[in-house]
Amino acid sequence: MGLQQFLANRKLEELATTDQLTGLLNRRAMGDILEKELSRASRNNGTFALILGDLDLFKKVNDTWGHDIGDEVLVETARRLGAQMRAQDALCRWGGEELLIMLPETGIEGALKAAEKLRRVMADTPIATSVHAIPQTISLGVACWHDGEDIDRVIHRADEGLYLAKEQGRNRVATLEQR
Ligand code: GH3
Ligand code: MG
Ligand code: MG
Repeated sequence: MGLQQFLANRKLEELATTDQLTGLLNRRAMGDILEKELSRASRNNGTFALILGDLDLFKKVNDTWGHDIGDEVLVETARRLGAQMRAQDALCRWGGEELLIMLPETGIEGALKAAEKLRRVMADTPIATSVHAIPQTISLGVACWHDGEDIDRVIHRADEGLYLAKEQGRNRVATLEQR
């Protein structure tokens, strides 16, 4: 394989695993990472945590300022959350304005602390966009893997936590895990 072929393949690989707007991992790439982490944790008697975040009342941003400004908010959100993470953590764009984070070797207390940091980095400072500084909060649900569970089960529990966070008034972290 020549250099040009090598570079072309690498570019294709990057396109296949990256979300084009935010530069974060896409859902497919995250799926692979989650399956690997699950088998690693199963083998080693380990654990990991998931945080599912969803921007609060984001439709309003699009409706008020337009979709392009909404996109700017998404890009800055990705940058801020990414800046809080450790190198071994994985951050992906799970859906439109939903972000999924995987923290290896992390239990519920550590994951709640991490989620609270993410909540605060959004709430503390409005996002400077090309038209206006826009306050944007995020709600987060946290779940930990328990031996024997599949990935969908853990994601589902993180989603239930997220639902609870929204129900309790948004701009907060919630979990269904025992503490
Ligand atoms: P909630 O607090 O309940 O989450 O309220 P919400 O308005 O954020 O509701 P919801 O999460 O259902 O809405 C998501 C919105 O995100 C709807 C959609 O227009 C917007 N969205 C999804 N993807 C993109 C995108 O790539 N760019 C922009 N600008 N908006 C997006
Ligand atoms: Mg949403
Ligand atoms: Mg939302």
